Amino acid sequence: MCRQISDGCVSRGCGHYIQTTVVAIADCQSRQCRLSSSHAPSCRGPACRCNQTYGPDIERTTSTKPGLCDQCLEARMAQGLHA
Ligand SMILES: [Zn+2]
Ligand SMILES: [Zn+2]
Ligand SMILES: [Zn+2]
Repeated sequence: MCRQISDGCVSRGCGHYIQTTVVAIADCQSRQCRLSSSHAPSCRGPACRCNQTYGPDIERTTSTKPGLCDQCLEARMAQGLHA
């Protein structure tokens, strides 16, 4: 399955990677993958049962930031614990 190559930022407090930009798509060259340029052009519509989701990102860490990522911050706040 195809994967997105992305730039992102790692929060040092929790280690989570947050995607900031999709740089490129790594094409898996499979005819059974709808996201690939090799997907059979005749295979489409309801008959197409091919893969249509991306695999895990190929992550390129371009920056880091202190503290927690937004998701972890929100989770903290939801619990009433302020970071
Ligand atoms: Zn693919
Ligand atoms: Zn297909
Ligand atoms: Zn986090």
